Amino acid sequence: MRPKPPPNYLAGYPPELIAQINQLIEQNLIADWLLQKYPHRHAVRSDKALYDYVMELKCSYLRNAGQINRVAFDNTLHLTRNALGMHTSKFQVQGAKLKAKREVHVATMFKDMPPEFLRMIVVHELSHVKVSDHNKAFYKLCCNMEPNYHQFEFDLRVYLTWLESAGESLWL
Ligand SMILES: [Zn+2]
Repeated sequence: MRPKPPPNYLAGYPPELIAQINQLIEQNLIADWLLQKYPHRHAVRSDKALYDYVMELKCSYLRNAGQINRVAFDNTLHLTRNALGMHTSKFQVQGAKLKAKREVHVATMFKDMPPEFLRMIVVHELSHVKVSDHNKAFYKLCCNMEPNYHQFEFDLRVYLTWLESAGESLWL
C-alpha cells in the first residue's frame, strides 16, 4: 500500500507562487529565508501566558464577543490544510439556560514559533468566536486584528511545508 501523501499546505495559492517556494525548498534556502523574516521565537511558554495573550487581543478587538472559558496549548492537535488550530463551542445545559462554553486550543507546535505565527493562529481562533465559517466576514475580522494576517498565514504554510521534509523546528 502507498503511504498517505503529506497534506498540501499551499493548495489554493497561485501556481507561480507555489513553484517559487518549491524551488527555494529544493535549493535548501527556505530555512534561511524564514529565519531572516522571522528571527525570534515568541515568549509565551505556558497555558496561563497563552490565556493572557488571547485575552489581551480579545479585549482590544472583540470586547463584545462571547466569553472564552479556556485557553490551552494542545499536543493532540495536528495541523491540516483546512484547520489551523481548533475552535470548540460546547453547549452545556445549565439549569434552564443553554450556555455556550468557548475554548481556544492552539497546537503545541506553536510554542516554538515566531510571534507573528502565534498572533496569526490566535487571531484566527478568536475570529471563530464570532464567525464559525472561513468566509469573507471571517477573514475581514482576522485582517482587522492583524493587517498582515494573509502574509503570516502564507508564510506559516511555507514553514509547515518545509517542516514536513526537515522534521525539526526552526525556532527551538
Ligand atoms: Zn478555522
